This record gives sequence, structure tokens and C-alpha cells, in this order.
Amino acid sequence: MIGDKKEIKRIEKLIKKAQRSLRLSSYKIRCNLVKADYSEYAGIICQHPKRTATIDFNRKRIHQELENTVIHELLHLLFNKHLSVAEDVFERQRKYKSLRKYQKGEEKIINILAPLLEKVIFENQRRR
Ligand SMILES: [Zn+2]
Repeated sequence: MIGDKKEIKRIEKLIKKAQRSLRLSSYKIRCNLVKADYSEYAGIICQHPKRTATIDFNRKRIHQELENTVIHELLHLLFNKHLSVAEDVFERQRKYKSLRKYQKGEEKIINILAPLLEKVIFENQRRR
């Protein structure tokens, strides 16, 4: 769609900046704008051996809280990079209740950290 390229460029710039702060620069991150009916802002798929990740941004919501969304998804990548071993163990042992609890906990922690980190990482940008 027309305009998408510009939007994606803008998002990629934010991602690059956040990646540096979160020490995730070794990852190649692709981002897509998707037409979605769900209310979520975005979703990420991580592939650690290849050090790639894809973030799908809900087109309807990129004009709200974009910076927070970028940090949020990159925090998922950060957690996943260092702690996915826990999820793997739960899955292997079929402890799905524990897996869900772990994932819920991750979401809660990210929701606490993202707004704080957003301020630190993107503060200068806003002061222009
Ligand atoms: Zn999340």
C-alpha cells in the first residue's frame, strides 16, 4: 500500500534505536504492517539460531503508542533470547499450566518495564 514504505522506515528507525539499548543489535528484525481484526498492537516471532525476528504491526494501531509497542515486542525478544530454556522445559515436560503462568508473568513484567524504558530510550527524540 502507498505510504507503507514510509511507515515501515519510521518503525525500523525506532526498532534500531531500541535494539541498541537492549543489546539486541545482532538480530535482523523485519517488520510488517498487517491488517488485523484483533485489538493487539503487534506480535513477534523469534528465531534464535538464525538471529532473526519478525514483528507484525497491526496497521490500525500504529498511530497509537508506537514507541511503547516497539519496546514491548523487543522485550519479548530479549526475554526469549535469554530465558526460552524455561519455556522449552515446560513444553517438553508438558507442564502447560506452568508454561501459561510463565508467559503471563513475562507479559506482566514487560508491561511494567516497557513504559519506563520507553522514557529512557526515546526521551531525546521527543525533546527535539
Ligand atoms: Zn506482549
